[in-house]
Amino acid sequence: MIHSLWFRLLIAFALVIAVTIGTVYLFVSRSIAGEIERYEEIREQFHIIETQAMLSAHYHTRGNWEGVQYVVGNRSVVSGTRIILTDFDRVIIADSEEELLVGEKYQPGSTDGLSGNYSGTYFVVFSEDQEAIMVRLYIGPRFLAGTDAASPRTFGEAINRFLLWGGLLAAAIALVLTFVLSRRMSSPIAALAATARRLGRGDLGQRVQLKDRGEVRELAQAFNAMAIDLEHAERLRRNLVADVAHELRTPLSNIRGYLEAICDGVMKPDAATLQSLNEEAALLSRLVDELQELSLAEAGELKLVYQEEDVTELVRRAAASWQPQVAAKGMSLSVDLPDKLRPVNIDWQRINQVLHNLLENAVAHTGKGGIITVAAAERGDWVEISVSDTGEGIPAQDLPNIFERFYRVDRSRARATGGSGLGLTIAKRLVEAHGGKIEAQSKLGKGSHFSFTVPIFR
Ligand code: ADP
Repeated sequence: MIHSLWFRLLIAFALVIAVTIGTVYLFVSRSIAGEIERYEEIREQFHIIETQAMLSAHYHTRGNWEGVQYVVGNRSVVSGTRIILTDFDRVIIADSEEELLVGEKYQPGSTDGLSGNYSGTYFVVFSEDQEAIMVRLYIGPRFLAGTDAASPRTFGEAINRFLLWGGLLAAAIALVLTFVLSRRMSSPIAALAATARRLGRGDLGQRVQLKDRGEVRELAQAFNAMAIDLEHAERLRRNLVADVAHELRTPLSNIRGYLEAICDGVMKPDAATLQSLNEEAALLSRLVDELQELSLAEAGELKLVYQEEDVTELVRRAAASWQPQVAAKGMSLSVDLPDKLRPVNIDWQRINQVLHNLLENAVAHTGKGGIITVAAAERGDWVEISVSDTGEGIPAQDLPNIFERFYRVDRSRARATGGSGLGLTIAKRLVEAHGGKIEAQSKLGKGSHFSFTVPIFR
C-alpha cells in the first residue's frame, strides 16, 4: 500500500494541505496578535489621558480633591482597571478599590496586589485660580482582560480558534476529497496493470476501457494499439508455423512414401526413383532456405550492401543467363532498354535475385512460342524494371494474393515446377527494403506483367 500511487498522491496532497493551512494560520494569527497589541497600547494611552483629563476637571472646579474617590471609583468600573491617585510625594489621595488608606505613603507594587506592569504617570492639575500642583496616577491592568467578551484580545483569540478549527475542518474535507480523487486517478492505471498482466499470461484479446480523458486515455490507446499489434503478430506466427508444417508435410510424406515402397519391395531403388527422391529433398531444402531468408527479411535483419550499380548491365546479364531455358522451351526473350539510364543505388545480389525470380516465374508459366520481355525505364527518382510474358496469366481473384507467402494459383502444378510459393513474397520484401514497390498485372490466357522500382543513385 505504501508504494501504491494513490497512497503517494494522498501523502503528497496531505503535506501540501498541512503546509498551506499551517502557513496561513501562522501568518494570520501573528498579524492579528500584532494589531491587537498596538490597539491595546493606544487604548491604554487613551485611558490614561482621559482619566487625567477627568481628574484635572474635577480639581479645577473644586479647588481640592473632595469627592475624587467617587470619580476614581466610577472611572475604574467603566475602564475595568484599578486606579490610584497620589500627590507628587506618593501620599495617597484616592484608591478605586478603597483598600489603601488615604494620607498614607504609596509603595507601588508592594501592597496593592497589582503586578509590576501597571503604569505610573504624573501630571499637573490647576485649581481655578491657576495654582498648579503635581499628582501621580497609577493605573493597573484590566481586571477582566482574559474573559471580557468585548475585549480585542478575546476577539483575536476567537479568530484564532476559528482559524484553527476552520483549518482542521478544511484539512479533513480536503483529505477525504484527495482520498477519493487519488483513488480515481490511480484506478485506470491499476486497471491497465491488471490488463497487462492478463495479456502477459497469453490472453491477447484483452483491451483497456477508454473511459478517461487526457494522458491516461492516450496511455490506454497506446496500450490497446500494442495489444492489437501483439495479437496480430501472434496470429501471423501461428499461421506461419501452420503454413510451414503444411508445406513441409507434402515433400516429407512423398519421401517417406518412396522409402516405404522401396522397403516393401514395391519399388526398386533405381535411378528414376532416386531422382524423384532427390527432387523432393531439393524442394525441402529450397523451402527451408527461402523460409530463412523470408524470416530475416520480415525481421528487417537482411544485411543489404547498397552500391552504385548499372541496371542495363544487370538486365542484360539476367536475360543472357535465362536464354538457354527460354530457347529450350521454344520461346523468345527480348530486352528493352533505353539508350541511357542513370545508375541506381541497390544491393546487386538482392535485386538480381528478384529479377531472376520474376524471369523464373515467366519461363515456368509461359508455353511454346511465348515471348518474354525484360525492360527498364526511368520513372522520376526511380528506375522501373519489368518482366512481361505472353503466358497463361493469373486469374483476377488470385492476383491480389500472389505476394502472400505460400500462395500458389495452381497448387499441384506449382509444386510440380518446384515452386515453394515464397518467391514473390521474398521479392516483395527485398524491393521494399530498397524503398521501392512491386506490382503485378495479368490477364488470364494473355500473359502477365511484373514490375518493380529501385532508387536512382544520388
Ligand atoms: P512459386 O515459387 O510457386 O513460383 P511465387 O511466389 O514466385 O511462388 O509465385 C506465386 C504464384 O504466382 C505462383 O505459384 C503462380 O501461380 C503465380 N505466378 C507467378 N508468376 C506468374 C507468371 N509470370 N504467370 C502466371 N502465374 C504466375
